[in-house]
Amino acid sequence: MHWKRWGVGVLLVLGGLIGLWRLSNARGFQLFGALHHRVEISERVVALTFDDGPGPANTPAVLELLSRHQVKATFFMVGRNIESHRELAARVLAEGHQLGNHSYSHERLVLRSPSFVEQEISRTDALLREVGVRGDIPFRAPFGKKLFVLPWVLSRQGRPHVTFDVVPDDHATQDAALITSRVLEATQPGSIILLHDGWAPKPGSIEAAGRIIESLKAQGYRFVTVSELLALGGVAPARG
Ligand SMILES: [Zn+2]
Repeated sequence: MHWKRWGVGVLLVLGGLIGLWRLSNARGFQLFGALHHRVEISERVVALTFDDGPGPANTPAVLELLSRHQVKATFFMVGRNIESHRELAARVLAEGHQLGNHSYSHERLVLRSPSFVEQEISRTDALLREVGVRGDIPFRAPFGKKLFVLPWVLSRQGRPHVTFDVVPDDHATQDAALITSRVLEATQPGSIILLHDGWAPKPGSIEAAGRIIESLKAQGYRFVTVSELLALGGVAPARG
């Protein structure tokens, strides 16, 4: 019966597409190279990360908050935003935080050519170097998405992909209490927490960050940068 074969074919294609979609979003797995969404460690350490900046709407307020709590964080910056706000990127660095690469344009790096992906990474590396970043630059894909090309490009560079295991979805809600409770429920030793400081004002994220820092400190946690967390977790530093 032809319709049966046809039906099986449609199911296989659908199954394949769902599999690819799940692979593109998986926080803890990719096909090539190293991916870290947290580290295995018993010590109460976590990395607080802020994506999509720098931007005048949130980054200065985040910096003031972190300085008040004496916490170092990691900022995964979008190259285009560094270009527009170089002095802000330099200020983040000067205040002792780590800067990471979050692509140049923040477009999804799936179903793209290797040269497009390489340019997205190298343009932003160059901008980060211009504002004074030395040493390893951790990379995080826009939307955390990857399939084949991005992991392959990163693995050729000997560079790990750093994602997150604590995702309060603060791009979708600015309810500070909800963001805080989602983070506190999901955090464990070695966690990497994802918040955002880019583009539109995010008063809920900033208020939540303060509450998260106070609660986790009260539970005995200390805050380290992504590179410090990977080192504590026994992850070898990136090549080159
Ligand atoms: Zn992002």
